[in-house]
Amino acid sequence: MKPETSAIHAGNFADDTNRPVIQPLTLATTFERSGPSPYHYARAANPNRAALENVLARLEGGADAAAFGSGNAAGMTVFQSLPPGSHVIVPYNMYHGLNLQIRSVFKDVLSFTFADLSDVEGLGAHIRPETRLLWIETPSNPMLQMADIAALCAAVKPHGITVVCDNTFATPVFQRPLELGADLVMHSSTKYLGGHSDILGGALVTKNKDAFWERIREIQVLGGAVPSPFDCYLLTRSIKTLYYRMRGHAANAWRLAEFLYSHPQVEDVYYPGLPSHAGHEIAKKQMDGYGAVVSFLVKGGPEAADRTVAALRYYTHATSLGGVESLIERRASVEGPDTRTPQNLLRVSVGLEHIDDLLADMGQALEKRG
Ligand code: PLP
Repeated sequence: MKPETSAIHAGNFADDTNRPVIQPLTLATTFERSGPSPYHYARAANPNRAALENVLARLEGGADAAAFGSGNAAGMTVFQSLPPGSHVIVPYNMYHGLNLQIRSVFKDVLSFTFADLSDVEGLGAHIRPETRLLWIETPSNPMLQMADIAALCAAVKPHGITVVCDNTFATPVFQRPLELGADLVMHSSTKYLGGHSDILGGALVTKNKDAFWERIREIQVLGGAVPSPFDCYLLTRSIKTLYYRMRGHAANAWRLAEFLYSHPQVEDVYYPGLPSHAGHEIAKKQMDGYGAVVSFLVKGGPEAADRTVAALRYYTHATSLGGVESLIERRASVEGPDTRTPQNLLRVSVGLEHIDDLLADMGQALEKRG
């Protein structure tokens, strides 16, 4: 079965005797004990979450998947599953909210080293006897840095280190980290998997149902940071169009990246599809497309960047990404004083509007930036 077909059918457990074409929404929190149902209580499992987890595992090529109430809850479950005192290597550039989580929630329980994951050889210097996990995020948020998943896995696996890859920006349409050696994939399904800016969710997908995975499952069920049946229903619905949405998003992003690259008011553009991008060769090797987030530096500093945002009509000034509507944000303005993100960087989540409208709007806004 091709992935486009799996996306439509693997999230559809239509076992209702009325034979509906789509799986019904089962809101029940509890199920009759004496009946044939494999379900007992909805925190442990429920039909809509089972369907969602099934399609996610299939698309990422994993043995199993676990759905959570947000991407951060999924990430948190990975860190909670580690023995206290474990050491974790994380990239300098990663989603700001998870970076904050590890520095505040886990600061007394785990130790972390921030590393440049483009330096695969240099990684060895960070490995300690208690290093249990390498966290990869590629392409990264918001710098679109690329990490070579296969090379990093080969470097750390001899040390018994588990590799987790945040695949939110690429989605399984463009990158499948489990095929490249990673043990776990993490998603903020709030983004492209949801695709319409109306669901908060997260997911983990495992290559093997090993002891670490059993611990993750235990924390999912006992901790209860799970999505509602309705959110699972909406996600399985959205995933049916994921492949077609992603191709549209990426085609628009490519055009916008090229437009910005040749624009005189733009200092630099970060998009893995551009040959000028530092990680372009890695992206070419490990991705089937380059995603749809484009970051760029506006000439004239943060004030000029803010004026550009204010002059736009079709790009909404808002946090988040992955919806059908284009969004834009000056990331440093929300990442706080210790951010490493350049102050004049704008991150665009390129939507599915007509590209002519998006280019014309960006062009007029850059002219008005002052
Ligand atoms: N990972 C990445 C790459 C993200 O962009 C985000 C959110 O922006 C998250 C994780 C966290 O996901 P959520 O907001 O669903 O908790």
